[in-house]
Amino acid sequence: MLKEAAALDAADGLAAERARFDLEEDCVYLDGNSLGALPRGVAGRLADVVGREWGRLRIRSWEESGWWTAPERVGDRIGRLVGAAPGQVVAGDSTSVNVFKAVVAAIRLTDTGSRDEVLVDAATFPTDGYIARSAARMTGCRIRAVDAADMAREAGPRTAVALVNHVDYRTGRLHDLPAVTAAVHAAGARTVWDLCHSAGALPVHLDAAGADFAVGCTYKYLNGGPGAPAFLYVRRTLQDRFDSPLPGWNSHADPFAMDPAYAPADGAVRGRVGTPEILSLLALDAALDVWDGVDLEAVRAKSLALTDFFLRCVEAYVPRGRVESVTPEAHGERGSQVSLRCAAGPAGGAGDVMAELIRRGVVGDFRRPDVLRFGFTPLYTRFADAERAARVLGEVLEGTRQR
Ligand SMILES: *Cc1c(COP(=O)(O)O)cnc(C)c1O
Repeated sequence: MLKEAAALDAADGLAAERARFDLEEDCVYLDGNSLGALPRGVAGRLADVVGREWGRLRIRSWEESGWWTAPERVGDRIGRLVGAAPGQVVAGDSTSVNVFKAVVAAIRLTDTGSRDEVLVDAATFPTDGYIARSAARMTGCRIRAVDAADMAREAGPRTAVALVNHVDYRTGRLHDLPAVTAAVHAAGARTVWDLCHSAGALPVHLDAAGADFAVGCTYKYLNGGPGAPAFLYVRRTLQDRFDSPLPGWNSHADPFAMDPAYAPADGAVRGRVGTPEILSLLALDAALDVWDGVDLEAVRAKSLALTDFFLRCVEAYVPRGRVESVTPEAHGERGSQVSLRCAAGPAGGAGDVMAELIRRGVVGDFRRPDVLRFGFTPLYTRFADAERAARVLGEVLEGTRQR
């Protein structure tokens, strides 16, 4: 498997991208689906933002350094990665907050007299479920949790909106965005897609699918840094009717009129709330440079090759029966991670196993109660990393010492 890894790395068209990240040579980092690695350009850019733009230009930077329009500018850069034409994505706030904006706005687009149901996927990342439940309570709707795979079938005449995680954070299962969107539309309802585990991991085609709303975070596959601003997509044809539940002054048509009466801005700007988080927004802006010239189809091809190869290595190295993949085999249903269920054994529970892996230089993460998660970020993960991760996992589960 070592030889095969070397051959795959030698043939990898994206291999050179790793140099754009600040990673130690021997670092096997398979947790980029939780916190993406640091792109090399970020520190220098932030130093300039702090030292010159803030330190010297001070208030002038809102205009002269483009701070005021950064949420839309950065939003458009993210838009390219999720299949959104310019003018539909705004960067800012957290994913949780953007879920709130999108779900309430989607409900407000429908006649809640006849449609009072919010569908959420049963395995959703918890924050989406909490927020959707609150949004439903506030709008006189009720929540119904259904398996994301059944979402298309479950949407009906009472459904106002379906909130779906594009890729399941725990299992890595990818859902069919175009098909589910079409089915939910056929039922007369709207979709809100959470792209946290797909933006930057695989090609997403929001415009082509006719998606209504989408949200996502930027600190995972987009490498924006801890707590980096999230994003909100509102399809262009819905923007005029987008009624934000958080109409802050930054979303006003003329914010500096300081008008007591609210008048919403046109376009993606309407998704803004308050003053943008400039330092983290511009760190994200710099981090997005690594995507310049990168073809998402090549990223996807490598992602699938990496996860396929990792699964084969696991089969080769890990004692039979010790782990079981809960990530779908089918490429069309797989995101960019592999989740292995690991029952307690001589090496301890899955949490102990991951702690030992991390001690031995292989960083993935653990999701209770028994899941080992390995994220594959094609811009900086090597086939050799996949091989080593599986080999070390085998050693840990066999109880052998580090070689
Ligand atoms: C990571 C993640 C979040 C995180 O939300 P924050 O508001 O950034 O904390 C939300 N939803 C999903 C599906 C995620 O994977």
